[in-house]
Amino acid sequence: MLTLQAHVDLTAANTLRLPCYAERFMAPQTLCDLQAILRRAAVCQWPVTLLGGGSNVLLPPQLSGIVIRPSLHQWWLESQGDDVVAYVGAGVNWHSLVMALAARGVWGTENLALIPGHCGAAPVQNIGAYGVELKDVLLGVQVVEIASGNMRWMSAAECQFGYRDSLFKHALANRVVITQLALRLSRQSNPKLHYGDLSSRVPSQPTPLAIAEAVCAVRRAKLPDPAVLANAGSFFKNPLVSQAHAERLLHQYPAMPHFSQPDGKIKLAAGWLIDQCGLKGWREGSFGVHAQQALVLVHFGGGDRAGLLQFAERVVSAVNTHFGVELEPEPRVL
Ligand SMILES: Cc1cc2nc3c(=O)[nH]c(=O)nc-3n(C[C@H](O)[C@H](O)[C@H](O)COP(=O)(O)OP(=O)(O)OC[C@H]3O[C@@H](n4cnc5c(N)ncnc54)[C@H](O)[C@@H]3O)c2cc1C
Repeated sequence: MLTLQAHVDLTAANTLRLPCYAERFMAPQTLCDLQAILRRAAVCQWPVTLLGGGSNVLLPPQLSGIVIRPSLHQWWLESQGDDVVAYVGAGVNWHSLVMALAARGVWGTENLALIPGHCGAAPVQNIGAYGVELKDVLLGVQVVEIASGNMRWMSAAECQFGYRDSLFKHALANRVVITQLALRLSRQSNPKLHYGDLSSRVPSQPTPLAIAEAVCAVRRAKLPDPAVLANAGSFFKNPLVSQAHAERLLHQYPAMPHFSQPDGKIKLAAGWLIDQCGLKGWREGSFGVHAQQALVLVHFGGGDRAGLLQFAERVVSAVNTHFGVELEPEPRVL
């Protein structure tokens, strides 16, 4: 049965704990229910906002129309020799999926352990961590068009994945609901340990579970837990600059972390740039730069989206003044 709720408080439904009320809210658990509510929204001309686990969004005080949280919770595996294809509903918790796959000895997602959120949102920014991105294992996504309710499959190539980027942030933003993922995984050992000191944290012939647990341990030590201190993980993307720009900066700051990209650009570490501006641990009012991880902005309570955006703008402007580099927020402004 479809349950449409009115005037729903979403403050606890976003990890930044920004106060927000949805005019209407629904969490469909089947494709049919989702299509039915999309039809109703179209007839009533309600603007549709999609929400997953709320770990990568900046919510306004009011969201008019209807907020839909796709809550399709089924997932299953299909074996094809050593290959395994996982079909995963949009409402499945990403971290629980990763741990369940790792525990079954299935390789592919273990480096992406402890990323908060639902599977349906994972393709939106092509989640990535510890040298692996979703696009490395994604075969395709099932989507339902918001305007028509029609369902179709898109291949990974059609999703136009980039660094924390996809078509779902551009041409398909607010146009489709991602309802299911198909992931190509394997039972063959394939550890990816080149990132940071991950290789020193696992046994010489690690299982996917050992890697997932090592990743969890590193992340728990580095990142604030949103359940304890409200945050949305990395608030800024790592900026990409031209080689000439990077060389000028390296002349002045020889210790600056920098990573060459396949397209010739150089990726800089946003957290390092913020730290160099002396902003690590800086707090003003309701918001602050986390004391251990400068890339994370935290909400101490009592603030709202406008306040957070103003705070973030001051960080952006300090980095721009020092380095001539423009930081871009990672969470989606809904
Ligand atoms: C502590 C912490 C650590 C994090 N670490 C990482 C990290 O290492 N790597 C990384 O990449 N990200 C990281 N993130 C960001 C975040 O976890 C991911 O972006 C995650 O995929 C967001 O999922 P969500 O369900 O919370 O999405 P939400 O925040 O609810 O939504 C994000 C966007 O996706 C859209 N959306 C949601 N569901 C759907 C759907 N079914 N169909 C279409 N659009 C949809 C929303 O409208 C919104 O634009 C971190 C966040 C936190 C709080």
